[in-house]
Parts: sequence; C-alpha cells; structure tokens
Amino acid sequence: MYEKKRVGIIGGGLVGAMCACYMANRNYEVVLYEKRDDLRKCETETGKSINLALSNRGRNALKSIGLEDIILKNSVAMKGRLLHDYKGETKFIPYDVIGKQCLYSISRNNLNQILLNAISSKKNVELNFNSELISTNQNGSVSIKTQNGIITKSFDLIIGADGAHSALRNQQNNLFSFSQTYIEHGYVELKIESRKSEEMIPNCLHIWPRNDFMMIALPNFDSSWTVTLFMPFQMFDNLKNGDDWMEFFKLQFKDTINLLGESQIGNLSNLKPRSLISINCKSYFSGKHYLLIGDAAHAMVPFYGQGMNAGFEDCYLFDRVLTKNNDDFIKSIKEFSGERIKDGHAICELAMYNYKEMRHLVTKDSYRLRKNFDEFLYRYFPNFWIPLYISVTFTNMPYCNCVINRKWQDKIIKIALFLIIVIIGILLKFLF
Ligand SMILES: Cc1cc2nc3c(=O)[nH]c(=O)nc-3n(C[C@H](O)[C@H](O)[C@H](O)COP(=O)(O)OP(=O)(O)OC[C@H]3O[C@@H](n4cnc5c(N)ncnc54)[C@H](O)[C@@H]3O)c2cc1C
Repeated sequence: MYEKKRVGIIGGGLVGAMCACYMANRNYEVVLYEKRDDLRKCETETGKSINLALSNRGRNALKSIGLEDIILKNSVAMKGRLLHDYKGETKFIPYDVIGKQCLYSISRNNLNQILLNAISSKKNVELNFNSELISTNQNGSVSIKTQNGIITKSFDLIIGADGAHSALRNQQNNLFSFSQTYIEHGYVELKIESRKSEEMIPNCLHIWPRNDFMMIALPNFDSSWTVTLFMPFQMFDNLKNGDDWMEFFKLQFKDTINLLGESQIGNLSNLKPRSLISINCKSYFSGKHYLLIGDAAHAMVPFYGQGMNAGFEDCYLFDRVLTKNNDDFIKSIKEFSGERIKDGHAICELAMYNYKEMRHLVTKDSYRLRKNFDEFLYRYFPNFWIPLYISVTFTNMPYCNCVINRKWQDKIIKIALFLIIVIIGILLKFLF
C-alpha cells in the first residue's frame, strides 16, 4: 500500500505555519510542533515586532497557496518613506515612482492566525501546541516535551522553522557550522492610538533618521501606529528615568510627543530594549533528514523588512525543488540548501547595510542624487536598470543577483563619472 511521506515541522510561527500549508498541499502527512500555546486562543506576546512589512516575495508565496487576497485585505499599503527632521518637517520618498508598487503593513498575530486557520482546515495536518522540541537524533526522530510528558516521533523529513534561536539547529552535530552576530543596537516598541491617527500622514512608513539611531512607525489596520525606536544599548542605558526620556524626545522627536503621550514616553525607562541577531549558516540541511528555513536558517536584522519575506520565499522555493525532484527529500534538501545559501548570506548583509541607509544615508544629498539617477534609468530601461531596493523588495530576483546587479551598476556609474571628468578636462584644455 502507498504510504504518505511524513514531515515534521518545528515551530508554528509565520514561516512554520506557511511551510505546513505547502507541505500539506503536497499531500504529505504533516505534524507541526509549536512550543507556545495556540495564539488563536490567547493573545500571546510574541517578543517580536507587532507589525511587519510584507513585500513581493512574501506576497508571491502567499498567492501560491491562495492567501494573498485575504492578507492584503487585512493590511495597510505603504507607498513610501516619510522622513521627519528635527523640526518635524517631513519629506516623502516613494518606494517605486515608476511601478507604483508598495509595501503592506500587516499585524504579525493576524497573519499567523490566518495561516494557522488555513492549515487547521486540512485533514493531513496535525497541529500540536505547547510542544517543544528538546532533542533530535540522526535517524530522523525528534523528542518533544508536551504537557503530558516527553514523546519521540520519527519522520521522513524534519523542517526547523523554530526561529533565530532554533533548537533544531542547535541539536545538530559539531560538523554543522553557523555563526551568530548581535548588533550593538536594540529596540523598543511604542504605540500611537487610533484616536490620534488623523495627525499622521497615512499610507507611508514614517522614519525619524538621526544618524546613530532612528525611530520608525508602521500603520496598523485599526488606524493605530506601531512605533519602533532602534538605538545603541549604551544610549538606552544613559536614559535613566522618565525625565531623561522626555528631554531626549524634546530634542530628537519633538513632533511625536503629543502623538505618543508623555506617560508612554516617561515609561520608556521601565522597558528593556530587545536585541537583534543575524544568523549565518554554512548549510541549511543536516544529515539526511533535517532542513532549516526562515529565521532558523538566516535570521537577519530587520532593516530591509525581508526576514519574513525571505522565510516565505524559502517555502515557495523548497516546494518547487520538491516538484522538480519528484518528492525525493534527500536530493531536495541538498539542492535547496545549495541554491539558497548564497541568497541567505546576501540578504543578511544587505539588511545590515540598510540600517545605515535608513538612519543616516537617506538624509544625505549623495543618496538622493544616486536615487534620482537610478530612477531616471529605471524609468527608461526598466528591464535593464533595476535599482537595488526595487530588486530586493519588488521582484523575485535571487538576493545574491540583486547584489551582483548593484555592483555592475556601481561600476558603470564610476566609468561614466570618469569619462565625464575626462571630457570636461579635454574641453577645458581646448577652451583655455
Ligand atoms: C523588530 C522586528 C521587525 C521586523 N520587521 C519585519 C518586516 O517588516 N518584514 C519582514 O519580512 N520581516 C520582519 N522581521 C523579521 C521577522 O519577524 C522574522 O523574519 C520572522 O518572524 C521569522 O519567522 P520564523 O517563523 O522563521 O521565526 P519565528 O517568528 O521566531 O517563529 C519561530 C516559532 O518557533 C517556535 N519555537 C521556538 N523554539 C521551538 C522549539 N524548541 N520547539 C517548538 N517550537 C519552537 C516559537 O515559539 C515560534 O513560534 C522583523 C523582525 C523584528 C525583530
């Protein structure tokens, strides 16, 4: 008798839930283990951002499983960045002047709930909450701590979508190499209530770039805004009480005091800033049975808004590799890892770079000059000259190709500048 292949998924966050949809659609027997309680029953504190920017790669993966429309209906479009200077004056920078594409701000919990509902309706999926992976062994079995004790289960394939601190990854033997980097900046989240929303220009991602630190605000579906302050831990430490925080806000983010309210700002001294980690694995598979996806494979700092998008894209791409290889798991995990690893590394690096761009470079004339130049060429040669941000955010171009693309564009610009200088030099020589 034909037996269905058994796939175990560790982690029922955004990527684990999305992956379960894909695996169930392939008609495997899917068992998902999530360490937390079912967030549809309780408002779980996820310990991460309240809302996220969804872009092309994430949308593409959602579309493939028929969930794009419902997600977009529950999200708010963001057409560009709105920069706030010290005086509160603003400047709008659209994301895509030519294609008019935008990002979508969606609640993390809402998105996760929609994905969990989608998998609950499938007969070949078993969902287990309060079930934590505690160990693995090389023959494809996992030990799970449940409320009724520890159980051991075997699978043909086990997918680790258990986040940046992945237990599945940490359980692999010494030959599995990866590195982790914490940046010196942490973040805290604040909220602008919906009753104040009229004072916020809608449909954009607000940024208060301040060189060494920055604050951003993303819209929520209920008209409120989630505000995130990213700053070096040292600066957080220096602001010791409510008065220090008020002084700081008066100096740096004057236009937000009324929106956030003095009590919320004063209370910042009681909040512990959260850390930001980047994970770099040498491979995304281990042995014959284990595959890492999402943050477990390539957690990144959040400044390109690509962590979830990249994780969703993992699911989409792995599904395609399985189709190509007629569901051969061993071949597929190797092939997926081999092709995807350079993209994982590329987007982690780009995310680090974008922090500098968001908090500092956006205020520079050189940045605007380059952006205008890119947009000019993109307008007239949209298939030839795709600016870096557009390629990462609004196309499915492999991340590493986005970087390669940017490098040759930089070279062309350098050569063009050199030629212009030479021509001017020659002209001046003839004239004088
Ligand atoms: C401040 C901030 C802002 C961000 N903004 C964006 C954005 O705008 N756009 C974007 O694309 N990305 C963004 N990201 C990144 C995004 O949050 C992550 O990339 C995404 O959540 C990764 O999903 P995941 O499912 O791989 O991991 P997680 O969300 O970490 O989920 C892992 C799940 O595994 C479970 N788990 C952990 N250990 C075990 C275990 N041992 N056994 C069983 N279950 C376990 C956890 O409980 C959790 O539910 C942001 C991140 C941060 C921190």
